Amino acid sequence: MLIKKINSQTKIGQHGPIDAAHITRADYVRWLTESDEAAVERLFEAARSVALAHFGTGIYVRGLIEISAYCRNDCLYCGLRRSNRQAARYRLTEEEILASCRRGYTLGYRTFVLQGGEDPAQSDDWLANLTARIRTAFPDAALTLSVGERSDEAYRWFREAGADRYLLRHETRNEAHYATLHPSDMSAARRRRCLYTLKSLGFQTGAGMMVGSPGQTLDHLLDDLAFLEELDPEMIGIGPFIPAAHTPFSHRSAGSVSLTLRLIALLRLRFPKALIPATTALATLDPMGREKGILAGANVLMPNLSPPGVRGKYGIYDGKCCTGDEAAEAWQALDDRLNRIGYHMVCGRGDYLY
Ligand code: SAH
Repeated sequence: MLIKKINSQTKIGQHGPIDAAHITRADYVRWLTESDEAAVERLFEAARSVALAHFGTGIYVRGLIEISAYCRNDCLYCGLRRSNRQAARYRLTEEEILASCRRGYTLGYRTFVLQGGEDPAQSDDWLANLTARIRTAFPDAALTLSVGERSDEAYRWFREAGADRYLLRHETRNEAHYATLHPSDMSAARRRRCLYTLKSLGFQTGAGMMVGSPGQTLDHLLDDLAFLEELDPEMIGIGPFIPAAHTPFSHRSAGSVSLTLRLIALLRLRFPKALIPATTALATLDPMGREKGILAGANVLMPNLSPPGVRGKYGIYDGKCCTGDEAAEAWQALDDRLNRIGYHMVCGRGDYLY
């Protein structure tokens, strides 16, 4: 009701008000291609009011622990692809991960996100056991896993062991586009199936795509939006593509910050309650990327809580921010930055409110 009210009261440029529940493909096209910056600013304002209505000025924070830089996959865009012989590799032990959680908990984090390549040495069993240990040690913290495609059974073990959320970007909905970004042993359909399984197991589930990945067209993005509408995820992570050295796409140009921000705004309007981060990739391309993301409707930040010694070695793309205000230790500095735009960090699990 509130959303409708906000939107019906918000005149957005020549396109008129946006009815959040009925954004059409044509609306998406118009907003993604709008050249009037003032109109785009009004789109951001509308998205921001929807986020404010649901979350106030609080921004949820997640401590991101990058648990392994080994991966059995060979995604063409990712610096951690297995055929990249130049990539720095490391893998955290169970004790190192628990110590990171402990450090994060003391700093104020109440959500830990364990993300990594699909590292065969971090088996399903091992991850389920680790999940159970974290669950026991930090009963009031939420645990998010982001460790790629696993079997239905493995996902069930993770859930039963106490994981609350799972991030698995669908990357691109378009099959042909997916096939140009991934080797032939990977499939867009399987990834989507994983997402439906995760949802059915009761995970707060996150999907999403890179913006400006090589070969991406406006139609691909529209397919992504349609897929997100169908899946109805609790979390949506999007960020610009950034080239990674020693990959087939090392010389491609990075995705657009402006397009990413418009997509964040449209996603906020379409998914008012979704947990939408202002991602590290956005902050990497634009020093004000976090603030811009929040002002376009994002409500989550994921500072880096990996052990300082390995930070910078999780090289999914070049130049990735992991120090300064991207470091989990910079709680106060990050809060100060948010205060300057009228927001603040929230110490809490920051669950999806169904
Ligand atoms: N292995 C896990 C985690 C992958 S890294 C999984 O499969 O989900 C998390 C996300 O980083 C990926 O889903 C992808 O969308 C993004 N990513 C990878 N390479 C990137 C690049 N070069 N530029 C921007 N984002 C990238």
